[in-house]
Amino acid sequence: MFRRDLPGAERHSGGVYIRMDRRGRVAPGRDGSFLESVATWPDGVQPLGFWHDLPVAVLVEAEEQDWPSARQWLGELGESHFMLLSTALQVVTWQRDHRFCGRCASPTRRIAGEFAMHCDRCGQRSYPRISPCIITLVAHGEDLLLARSPRFPPGRYSTLAGFIEPGEAAEDAVRREVYEEVGLSVGRVAYFRSQSWPFPHSLMLGFFAEAASRRIRIDGVEIADAAWFTPRRLPQLPPAYSISRALIEAHLQGVRTG
Ligand SMILES: [Zn+2]
Repeated sequence: MFRRDLPGAERHSGGVYIRMDRRGRVAPGRDGSFLESVATWPDGVQPLGFWHDLPVAVLVEAEEQDWPSARQWLGELGESHFMLLSTALQVVTWQRDHRFCGRCASPTRRIAGEFAMHCDRCGQRSYPRISPCIITLVAHGEDLLLARSPRFPPGRYSTLAGFIEPGEAAEDAVRREVYEEVGLSVGRVAYFRSQSWPFPHSLMLGFFAEAASRRIRIDGVEIADAAWFTPRRLPQLPPAYSISRALIEAHLQGVRTG
């Protein structure tokens, strides 16, 4: 299990660590996962928390490596490894992108004991950026509305998703995104659950939405195609570890049990 309590590098050196390169490729460890045991952490590690009571850290190596991608690892490992790797990827991205103050452009320094970068010149602090997104399964009775982005592998369809805008409630973002992407008005919107998604720092808030009609108009920019599918005839779906797939499976389970 992963515990979010930041180990101090001076009091804890060693335990387990994750090695990744600058493109987010992650080295295989010794137990079939990406974790490597060490007596002493190498220089430059970022502590993350505790993994089964052992201090855990991440190290970014300068050279590009031929390791599996983070997405490959996420597809193979269980939920607690997912949380740990997701945290590591986001902490690394944040440190890389907040080396200078966004207010006065001076170099920042890392505060020990918390995820914070401090600017000594103007006092501004930067914390890891988390971007809330809605992701929604639109249904009409038993049928599901699924769409494909131009970036998807051929044949794959998924749920609709989009960033929440400043000042916007999540439920309003669901209604706006669905209308923008497929021209549909939705009735009832119900919260499902959330998932941290480290590409690069999204917090996906999952919702079910009921379509008021079946008539759709595809925007052609954010999505390349969208269609209604019956539970008995589905396209290629997103990977099992994604909240998109969990929304689809929860809907199908509801259809089966009536
Ligand atoms: Zn500053």
